[in-house]
Amino acid sequence: MAQFESPIPGSPVVPEMVDGSYPIQFQCKPGISCWNACCSNIDITLTPYDILRLKKRLGLNSAEFLNAFTVPYELDKDDIAGVKFRPVPEGTACQFMTDAGCSVYEDRPTACRYYPVALLSMRKQDEYVDKDSYALVKEAHCLGHLEPRTLTIDEYRAEQGVKEYDELARGWRQLILKKKSCGPAIGKPSLRSRQLFFMACYDQDQFRGFVSSEGFKKLFDVPGEEMDKILGDDVALMDFGFRFLRQVLFGEMSITLKDEAAQARIAEAKARRAEEERIAAAKFAKEEEGGGDEGYDD
Ligand code: SF4
Ligand code: SF4
Repeated sequence: MAQFESPIPGSPVVPEMVDGSYPIQFQCKPGISCWNACCSNIDITLTPYDILRLKKRLGLNSAEFLNAFTVPYELDKDDIAGVKFRPVPEGTACQFMTDAGCSVYEDRPTACRYYPVALLSMRKQDEYVDKDSYALVKEAHCLGHLEPRTLTIDEYRAEQGVKEYDELARGWRQLILKKKSCGPAIGKPSLRSRQLFFMACYDQDQFRGFVSSEGFKKLFDVPGEEMDKILGDDVALMDFGFRFLRQVLFGEMSITLKDEAAQARIAEAKARRAEEERIAAAKFAKEEEGGGDEGYDD
């Protein structure tokens, strides 16, 4: 069994990486004396599919949901954004916690379904195939670990309805893993790319508006039938968003650019390069005139 070191001293994560066949002793049930302890102090990252399910349940659009229930945070050092649940005002509890338990139980996010298991995804270089491993989180307040029930992590995932959530968040997790593992090779994404990442992953209704805009249609050649499906189905739109982001972030050209637009883009890039070269040449000439080699390394 592989070992990993938690970066946080005193972390409740058991430092052992296991697979789905690993047996855990755990049960959470109404009446347990720690009822709601886990939902009273939250730190829950949301996947795009979590947002899609919750906004639908609450009858909100994505902007309304994001404003009321989430806070953005940096998923990595290059400012790629994630979103977390926003707790109750001036508190740490989840806004959906009630005395009777979770008020959005059927649509609760992936992290709530997994608890007390943590999902660890890893990716082989240059592959989109990620491999899932798990770790167990043992927090002192959670008495579910003392209940006399043993089941494997795979059985627990099935019981908690996690498989669908994992499948539908895979495209998002793969984007993040690829971004992290490429590191300096692709550099820091531009502000525009980071805005597109946020919109396509989290602000899904705004992304729908973006995809149906005249500007998008002028630039990209998406066949009519496919476009109808993308615009009429939340999951198809989300998957298209992941595909679009692979094109934006990693240059994987799976959405055809219209000829005219492609030519215009190439012309723009050439003009930009020519202008950069002109500025560099002017700067060099000025420095030569000044008679020195200041600012240049030998
Ligand atoms: S969504 Fe439900 S299960 Fe998750 S933290 Fe909130 S109340 Fe708890
Ligand atoms: S057993 Fe654990 S997961 Fe269940 S209510 Fe208690 S603290 Fe939360």
